[in-house]
Amino acid sequence: MGNSPSHHIDALVRIRDEVAMRESKHTPGPWRVEEGPFFAAIRADAAGVSGIASIQLVSPSTAQAIANAHLISAAPEMLFVLKEVEWAADGEDALGWTVPCCPFCAATKAGGAHFDFCALSAAISKAEGRS
Ligand SMILES: [Zn+2]
Repeated sequence: MGNSPSHHIDALVRIRDEVAMRESKHTPGPWRVEEGPFFAAIRADAAGVSGIASIQLVSPSTAQAIANAHLISAAPEMLFVLKEVEWAADGEDALGWTVPCCPFCAATKAGGAHFDFCALSAAISKAEGRS
């Protein structure tokens, strides 16, 4: 039970996730939205951290401002998932071997770079402040 292969895989996934969170520059997620009468506050639950951003709820687009706050609050999870799928597709190298590749631009991981038009790479770069 405690020593099953899936138990070990779960432990490895947990360690990998913790390393990924330590290596990111942004405040660790999850982030959440607290709606007030004039502002929607985006907060983190990480120890010692609270405020991430404050979105002013301006009439008549209050609903849009709240939607924006929820979109921002999902950023840590979305970045994590984008990085998880970055090389998750199966591609083929010059010899016909199956190799990891980008599901958007089909660049191979071994090549080390996405094609210029890759929306997945552009989104990760933007989220990490590299574009
Ligand atoms: Zn790509």
